[in-house]
Amino acid sequence: MKYDLELKVAIEAVKKASALCRRVQASLVSEETITKKDKSPVTVADFGAQTIICHELKKAFPNDQIVAEENSKELQTEQGELVTQKIYEYVSDVLPEIKKEEIHSTIDRGNSDGGAEGRFWTLDPIDGTKGFLRGQQYAVALALIEDGKVVLGILGCPNLNKDLKDPDGPQGLIFSAVRGEGATTQYIDSENTSNIEVSDIEHPSHAPFCESVESAHSSHNDSEKIAQVLGVTAEPIRIDSQCKYAVIARGDASIYLRLPTRKDYMEKIWDHAAGCIIVEEAGGKVTDIFGKNLDFSQGKTLSNNTGVVGTNGELHDLVISAVIEVLESK
Ligand code: AMP
Ligand code: MG
Repeated sequence: MKYDLELKVAIEAVKKASALCRRVQASLVSEETITKKDKSPVTVADFGAQTIICHELKKAFPNDQIVAEENSKELQTEQGELVTQKIYEYVSDVLPEIKKEEIHSTIDRGNSDGGAEGRFWTLDPIDGTKGFLRGQQYAVALALIEDGKVVLGILGCPNLNKDLKDPDGPQGLIFSAVRGEGATTQYIDSENTSNIEVSDIEHPSHAPFCESVESAHSSHNDSEKIAQVLGVTAEPIRIDSQCKYAVIARGDASIYLRLPTRKDYMEKIWDHAAGCIIVEEAGGKVTDIFGKNLDFSQGKTLSNNTGVVGTNGELHDLVISAVIEVLESK
């Protein structure tokens, strides 16, 4: 099938990167965190995961461009040298062939700008760094975009439980989708996949919804009002990262709201590409808050869109109406 090789390589790369993230999360110490200008925490795991995935993609698809969240600029300082050494130690456990001198250039293979033409990968090596640092949910997110359309997406969710209601049960899952071929899940340490589908809930009052843990990333005030308009009675499920898309895709929740907190914020393509195709291929729908399809052809940001709404499909029009009603009344 089309994209068989891409899928195989991407899943393996995300599994290796997820394993590194797990090891770093288990041993988080302050020297592994440096502060980016925008104050979001960046960790050894972030750079390490990007190194692994860029290296694996380069090996299999040497001509492919990559649009990734991180670059090596902050590593090229005195403090960065310590971090680079740590990254090298973690990465060389997984990729014994890599040299320390290659770490920065491998990270910087992710420096492409994206756009409307041709084929490129987009990568968020750790989506949900705040969740990662809290010891909670995060995702390794990788997607392939061709001529502005997402055609393949993988989410590595190392801390996500198979069953949200059983927090002591098994965890660590991969979600994947290829356009036209449905969406699947598997344990990170297994090859056996099973198909996933969104919920078949038809009435919003029965529809649990999910949103960011961070109210700076999505307005909790507005979502509460929207839930009231829709008659949603359940408490919101708050999860960091694109794990929210995974939770919608397998039917644990039926509505994902990402409501703008400031006028000038533009969503990044790597924060949505993988999650979006996984929800769509599981039978759901993803648009912005006005019901417009997400436009991945505009470079690094979703500059033609505002916020994000994901649903099981069935509820989409109702949810969009409620979102517009609440936001317009402000
Ligand atoms: P989440 O874990 O869903 O809250 O999303 C984490 C992502 O939110 C990060 O990868 C950031 O790129 C992104 N982010 C940062 N600031 C904002 C903002 N003001 N609004 C929406 N998303 C943001
Ligand atoms: Mg992110």
